[in-house]
Amino acid sequence: MPELPEVTTIVFGLNKKVKGLTIKDVWTDLPTGRQTGLRKQDIRSLKNPEYYKQFKKEVIGKKILKSERVGKNVLTHLSGNKTLLFHMKMTGHLLYGKWKQEKENNKLIWKPIKEGTPLSDPYNKFLHIIFYLSNGYELAFSDVRKFGKVVLLDKGKEFESKDLKHLGPDPMKENFSFTDFKKALMKKKDGAIKQILMTQEIISGIGNIYSDEILWQSGINPKERLKNISEQDFKNIFKATRNILDRSIKMGGDSMSDFRNIEGERGKYQNCHLVYRQTGKVCKKKGCKGVILRTKVGGRSAHFCETHQALKK
Ligand SMILES: [Zn+2]
Repeated sequence: MPELPEVTTIVFGLNKKVKGLTIKDVWTDLPTGRQTGLRKQDIRSLKNPEYYKQFKKEVIGKKILKSERVGKNVLTHLSGNKTLLFHMKMTGHLLYGKWKQEKENNKLIWKPIKEGTPLSDPYNKFLHIIFYLSNGYELAFSDVRKFGKVVLLDKGKEFESKDLKHLGPDPMKENFSFTDFKKALMKKKDGAIKQILMTQEIISGIGNIYSDEILWQSGINPKERLKNISEQDFKNIFKATRNILDRSIKMGGDSMSDFRNIEGERGKYQNCHLVYRQTGKVCKKKGCKGVILRTKVGGRSAHFCETHQALKK
């Protein structure tokens, strides 16, 4: 799932490629064409034909203004006081290009007009929503598993929406201090650190990959209870959080899974993993001869070094 650095990369791309353009039309293959049988979470989604109809009416003719990241969400502000919210969920990502529809094995599929570019990457072919833009290009939402979210909000009221109102502070905000960080985490002092770092209501933007890397860097076991973590260790976790997220942003995010930037290209952070999915390997920390193990924390996999990340008690 795209985390803070990947979503930041998407926002950079949007501000570079689509800012200032007007939405001419929208296409989707998501609506089922019937209202009955919609799951509750799909009522306010493009999977609901009624919602889609209204959505389309409201976005056509709107100019794309600035995009920004909030937690793992992309907010794209539009003229007319509207804001598009994208959440990538498991496998969603946005792409900029031009496509044509072709028949393959009796199924209509989208193919990039220009072959041999990163847009031809197999992870970029699951287009389910397309925005047609005033310069002849398209902004498309590719999503293998179709869990991604695209909704329209009223500008200025975004943070009252159920999409954003629960979100905790952002670790990459300039004025976010160590005190804010510790205060946010200590709301769950009996919780396991890895699980708390990934709880969007506590702190927003961090998921499975970066929580593993942050804890490896700080020498803290993913199952360590917050109340057993010392002041110095908290400082190390805070520093590692900012450094690792910043480094990944500079590398264009992590493409170990489906993530691609809006030009369809892979990020490079997957080449720098020191612990995530390194099970069985000797720890890369200088002087440490431990082995990387895999465990479960709160239903999610966690990777850690048995030696320099041993539990304190
Ligand atoms: Zn180690």
